[in-house]
Amino acid sequence: MGCSLRSLTLVLGLALSLVSSAAVAETVTLRWFGHAFFLVTSFQGVRVALDPFSNIGYPMPDVAADVVTVSHEHGDHNGADGLAGSPVILRGLKAGGVDWNSISYSVKDVRITALPAYHDDVQGRRRGLNTIFIVETGGLRLAHLSDIGHTLSEATLKAMGRIDVLLVPVGGIFSIDGRQAKEIMTRLRPSITIPIHYKTPVTADWPIEDEREFLAGLPNVRRLDMLSALLTPETLPTQPEVWVMRYR
Ligand SMILES: [Zn+2]
Repeated sequence: MGCSLRSLTLVLGLALSLVSSAAVAETVTLRWFGHAFFLVTSFQGVRVALDPFSNIGYPMPDVAADVVTVSHEHGDHNGADGLAGSPVILRGLKAGGVDWNSISYSVKDVRITALPAYHDDVQGRRRGLNTIFIVETGGLRLAHLSDIGHTLSEATLKAMGRIDVLLVPVGGIFSIDGRQAKEIMTRLRPSITIPIHYKTPVTADWPIEDEREFLAGLPNVRRLDMLSALLTPETLPTQPEVWVMRYR
């Protein structure tokens, strides 16, 4: 009896340590460099750069990537050439920007898909097309809306499915503004929403808004101290939160 109780304790202890190591094992790292430029690093070490800028005023980070997503071919989103490594470049738009590429790409523990969107609210007639990229890794689903210029249709919401982390522009003028970003957030209900593409001291002379209109009245806003956010399914907030990331 004592012996079987002890082995039961051992088994339980082993199971618990497996659970805790599994939680560590799934960690995804998210880093923001400003504007719409992020680096997602999977647990298996796959580095996915999202919409890297070229020289727009933010410090050019020394980033090596395995995969780069480019939502559309504007200089503040398509600086793939500035990255180290020999990344696979996933371009959301076909040459000339008149149509979307069909994208479904997998490498190790990362899967990337794309959905069509527009840079304005008139089917691209003013600013062209845009692409929503969805990165799945470590049991998490991240959506990067880039320069989206409209709220989401029912069809797009359905196609996106569950989104855990939403990267959404809030600066207005070239993209949706804070009010429209809130509307998308309310419909998608991600665990974490991160505002992007807004005025900062670096882009002080850009005709876009800062993040304050978006943040106004929102509960659960956290300004992160660290440059990198560590994400796992187990540690997602139980109530939706807005995270304001640092770019330096
Ligand atoms: Zn932009």
